[in-house]
Amino acid sequence: MLDPKLIDEQGRIAALHRYEVLDTPPAEPFDKITALVRDVLQVPISAVSLVDRKRQWFKSVQGLSVTETARSVSFCSHTIMDKAVLIVPDALADARFADNALVTGAPHIRSYAGAPLQTPDGYNVGALCAIDTVAREFTSAQISILSSFASLVVDELELRRIAQTDHMTGALSRRGFVAQVDKQIVHHSRNGGSSVLVLLDIDHFKSVNDGYGHPAGDIVLKAMSEVCAGFLRGSDSFGRLGGEEFGILLTDVRHADGLMVAERIRCKIAEHAMPVGTGLHVTASFGVSALHSRTESASQWIAEADAALYDAKRSGRNRCVLARTHEGWAAAC
Ligand code: GH3
Ligand code: MG
Ligand code: MG
Repeated sequence: MLDPKLIDEQGRIAALHRYEVLDTPPAEPFDKITALVRDVLQVPISAVSLVDRKRQWFKSVQGLSVTETARSVSFCSHTIMDKAVLIVPDALADARFADNALVTGAPHIRSYAGAPLQTPDGYNVGALCAIDTVAREFTSAQISILSSFASLVVDELELRRIAQTDHMTGALSRRGFVAQVDKQIVHHSRNGGSSVLVLLDIDHFKSVNDGYGHPAGDIVLKAMSEVCAGFLRGSDSFGRLGGEEFGILLTDVRHADGLMVAERIRCKIAEHAMPVGTGLHVTASFGVSALHSRTESASQWIAEADAALYDAKRSGRNRCVLARTHEGWAAAC
């Protein structure tokens, strides 16, 4: 019987997007694997291809200068329909590929071996492939090595995903959050738009631990995360930056609206009865900073929001403070 995950396209795309890997820069571990595939299988072209809705995007590629192709011409989109390695000894003799533009034109693919990249929960998110420009066979040893390398690719994707997630709250880890902040700065420099960074830190959290115990403190952290997550839209990001400090990246909002969202979250937290004792109440302080034309790096943007958070703490806690960089903006916006 056909595995239902092989035809669950929505689940497959969700599994791929969980890795947050599409359109990220090249990375050495993947490049090492494709270089090895080229050497061991003796092919001119090798790629880690991730099959997105309408395209295949290469996390790593050797022997080709493109980073993506349309899904409609992708050999790897055939590979992901099965759990076994797909072997095409001669594309011109195969009805599925004989008139494929990548066969009849550059790069003139003639033979192909692709091992599916199967996630631990059973979705084929792409393929590790070896491509030649002449018709040829692949030995069973080569096919088996290709499969082993494919599982190494998935291990690497998994490690990266785990490092990007805070296991206690399910929020992004500091590393994962900073990566999103970086991405937003690049997006802003290319497309403009506005976005707002909000940092928040629970007030007097040490006294929660001291009064109710560390496990109760953990419960508060999880509950806090749920409250914050309730305010996010699809393109926003939420991360745990350290102990009891969180970051929220609000996309497509101006600083005044970002400040308003922060204020709403602040009120919601203050009125929320935490599932500790008879309904413990905690508050948090907020620093808010909008991306501006002089924002050069994630660390600079975070430092601006952090300085505002420090001002919020110093001026009495349980409040939202706009970064000093925006002084004078209120009148203009
Ligand atoms: P302030 O209002 O100035 O932010 O005071 P605070 O007590 O919240 O800040 P402080 O930095 O003094 O203490 C933070 C505490 O957070 C101390 C640390 O033990 C606790 N903490 C950090 N990570 C965790 C965690 O994962 N679980 C629990 N339960 N506590 C944590
Ligand atoms: Mg604190
Ligand atoms: Mg703190």
